[in-house]
Order: sequence, then structure tokens, then C-alpha cells
Amino acid sequence: MTDSLPGRDRAAWQAKAAALSIEGRAFIDGAYVEARSGRRFDDVSPIDGRVVAKVARCEAVDVDAAVVAARAAFERGDWRRTDPKERKRVLLRFAELIRGDLERLALLETLDVGKPILNSINVDVPFAADCIAYYAEFADKLYDEIAPTAPNETALIRREPLGVVGAIVPWNYPLIITAWKLGPALLAGNSVVLKPAEQSPLSAIRLAQLGLDAGLPPGVLNVVPGFGEEAGKPLGLHPDVDMISFTGSTEVGKLMMRYAGESNLKRVALECGGKSPHVVMADADLEAAASGIAWGIYYNMGETCHAGSRVIVAAPVKDALLAAIEQVARTITLGHPFDPATQMGALIDQGHLGRVLGYIEAGVREGARIAFGGRQAFADSGGFYVEATVLDGVRPTMKVAREEIFGPVLTVSAVSDEAQALREANDTIYGLAAAVWTSDINVAHRLSNALRGGTVWVNTYDRSSLATPFGGFKQSGFGRDRSPHAIDKYADLKTIWTAYK
Ligand code: NAD
Repeated sequence: MTDSLPGRDRAAWQAKAAALSIEGRAFIDGAYVEARSGRRFDDVSPIDGRVVAKVARCEAVDVDAAVVAARAAFERGDWRRTDPKERKRVLLRFAELIRGDLERLALLETLDVGKPILNSINVDVPFAADCIAYYAEFADKLYDEIAPTAPNETALIRREPLGVVGAIVPWNYPLIITAWKLGPALLAGNSVVLKPAEQSPLSAIRLAQLGLDAGLPPGVLNVVPGFGEEAGKPLGLHPDVDMISFTGSTEVGKLMMRYAGESNLKRVALECGGKSPHVVMADADLEAAASGIAWGIYYNMGETCHAGSRVIVAAPVKDALLAAIEQVARTITLGHPFDPATQMGALIDQGHLGRVLGYIEAGVREGARIAFGGRQAFADSGGFYVEATVLDGVRPTMKVAREEIFGPVLTVSAVSDEAQALREANDTIYGLAAAVWTSDINVAHRLSNALRGGTVWVNTYDRSSLATPFGGFKQSGFGRDRSPHAIDKYADLKTIWTAYK
């Protein structure tokens, strides 16, 4: 942590948050503007339920203005046709400005979504900056191709930017997921219209200013805060948007494909929900598994698309594993997000709190047992907190085993052999991630090959880097964020075939 930051003092962090002057306007064509209607919506902090900002409530007319500005910037070409060295310089500067704005961005992120301040400081803000810098470096290092042809001909295969990219993002990692989209989309030369989630617009609104300060020409990055139906839908349906890059629920992801079909057949890339399994074999290192499992579900309050939310464990070691998970969970501090000792903060909003508690009740109704946790916490704070929870005795047909809970709730089922473990692990509409815990190299290979998921971890969880692609199989979506592979989804391939004498 930087020396000037308040360190371990919760009151100092809160004072800094209270002193913030928060921008709530949309950002269109290089300037902050109110929604055309003049309407604003309340941005509520999950920490205590208080309104922290009034935010422009964008609708179709605002989205249209943003798309017009984005298109004009694209046609002008002062971004897509810049010298690659210059594009790299601007994006590297953007990353540096994000790093330089660490404290403000972290405060905004924690205020907006209730995640622990030290996570915002040490993870969300630096990872977002790293991502922009990672893609900046491709600007003058990525080559296109020349295809084999007959003599006297040349076939160039070139990546060309798509045009206007609509980026629609969720509230759980607002900065990181936004950076996963902005990095490759901007590197490829596109203009972007970003629609942050209505629960978490503040860091995106701030990013727009930093992008402008870094040298992105007006119109290249626009931000239209607002609700899904009011701002997301017109973006998805817009006839002049070339691509929607979406991260969010599977349900809304399906709408994106409908919007594309009903409008201009824009490209769609989807990063959707998950219900990721841990398969724990009897020969696993249970201590390591317990740590990977507990942090894999309780980090970010379980509001993580690839949270490992289902444990499928060999029956003979189930009780020992449960005891070890509980031991780790007891060391994870649930508390006020501005307290630097806090490792689990608040859930995003009242509605989500009710949904998570409702799942716990549904599990119990269907015959699961609460092994620990299961209750709301700090109800008198006005915020939305739930204890780290484990439901034991879960059967694969139960609602809690099938639906994404998106909260700090782990389900545990015992199985009798590897075949049953694999069947249950793959018995889901989702395919974002999975893990295998075993000391047998044969089992590790067999299961990691057979599990259906975009990432399979073996004897670890949640290890990742910008160098590895991230995304789903099945109804967890398609298209990949991170890694060089992400760049291709923001570009079209053009063949230029030339004959000469
Ligand atoms: P959500 O689908 O409700 O919302 C995501 C975005 O879509 C928001 O900006 C929202 O305003 C917008 N939206 C909602 N309804 C819309 C509509 N009718 N038309 C257009 N836009 C609309 O998801 P959420 O609750 O914000 O986020 C949680 C979900 O995101 C979980 O399912 C989680 O698994 C998923 N997620 C996936 C990944 C991944 O990389 N696979 C990462 C993070 C979150």
C-alpha cells in the first residue's frame, strides 16, 4: 500500500470517502453531460444503504448521442489510424493515470459495491491498470499475416477494428471487467460506449476522464450510466453499434443475442454466470483444498462469476474437509468495508441480500443442513451483509445446487467414486470453471480433460493472469477476455488479394 494512504485506520478511510466529490454525469464526446431528460437516479452504497451520489439516468436518446459521437470518432480516424507507437503511448498513459488515481478509484469502488477497501487498493485498481498496459504493449508488436499464394500474387490478412463497441458490464468487479473490455477494444482501434451496471457506475464515470486526460480523442470512450432496460437495451438494439461485449447474467446474455438478431446482427461476446464445482478426491491435500475452496467462495463475498460454489467430495473425507473449510472460514473477517482488517464486506443491494438469504432457506427446505453461517449480519448498519455459509447434504437436484447464488454460500455433496463426481460436476448449464483436488496425476489429467469449463484448476483455485484467456463453455458464454485471444473478438479479418506482373 502507498505510504500516503490511511493504512489501518477505518475512520481515516471513511473520512476520505465522505470528502470525495463524486461525478455522476454521463460522459459523451469528451465531456460530462446530464441525461437529456435531466433525470438522475440514486446510487446507494451497500455499506450502509445511504445514497452516495445522484447519477445521470441515460435512456435511448443519450445512448444514441454516445453512439453518434463514437461513430464520428471512428470515421475521423484520429484514434484507429494513429501510429501504433502513439496508440501505445496513450494507453500506457491511461494505465499510469489509473495507478495515479489509486486512492480515489478504490474509494469509489468500495463505496459503490461494498468490497473491502484493501481489495480495491491491492487488486481491483492495479489489476485494471495492468490490463490496459498489457494491451497497450500489443500496439506495436502484433503482426498481421500474409497467406501462401501463387507467385505474382499477395494475400494480406489484416485485422481491422469493428467500429463502435458497446460494452455492458456488471457490478461485481466494475473496474477490472471494464478494463478487460477497454484494453483490447481500444488497442484494436474501436470506439467504445460503456454501460456500467446501475449499482456501480462511479468508477466507470471517473475512468472516462482519465482516458481523455491520457489522450484518447473525444468520442473514443463514452460512458452512459443507467438501467438495463433503459440504457442497456437501446445500446444492444442500436443499428449503428457493431458489437456488444457483455458480462453479466446468462438471462441478460440471452437478451443480447436477441437484440443482435432483431437489429443489425452485431457481433456479440458473452461472459455470463457460473456454478463452478470443486471435485475433491479422497487422496487430496485437504488443508490446501480447504483453503482454495474457502477463499474461492468467500472472496468478494461470493459475488464472483467463477466462484467455486459446489464442493463434490469423496464421502470418506467429507467431514474432515468440512471441518478444515470451517477453520479457514473462521479466519476470514466479515466487517465494515472501510476497515482494513475486513476481508468480506457487503452484498451489492437489498434485493440481492434477500435473494441470497432466500437460497439458504430454499436449501434448508429441500433438506440441506447449514454446517455453518447462514445468517444476515450487521442488520442495524443499514447495509447488506451475510455470513460465510456452508450447506451440507446437498443433492444435485436441489435449487441451491443448480442455480447461481452469487453470494457467500457453498454447497457440499458427498460422492462414492470418480465417475459420480464427474457426472455431478458436469451436470449444470454452466461451464465457466472447475477444480480438481487430488494427489494422483492420472486422476488429475483424466478429470481436468473431462470437466467442461473454460478454466480447470488442479490443486489450486483462482490462479490467473492477463496471459491466460478467461470465459465460459456452455451457457457461461463465449468469447474470451484477457490474453492475446481477446483482441481477435474486437477485430474483423480483411483479406487484401493483389495480383501483379
Ligand atoms: P445482469 O445481467 O443483471 O446485468 C449486467 C449488465 O446488463 C448491467 O449493466 C445491467 O444494467 C445490464 N442489463 C440488465 N438488464 C438488461 C437488459 N434488459 N438489456 C440490456 N442490458 C441489461 O448481471 P449483474 O447482476 O450485474 O451481475 C451478476 C452476473 O454477472 C452473474 O450472473 C455473474 O456470474 C455474471 N458475471 C460473469 C462474469 C464472467 O466473466 N463470466 C464476470 C462477472 C459477472
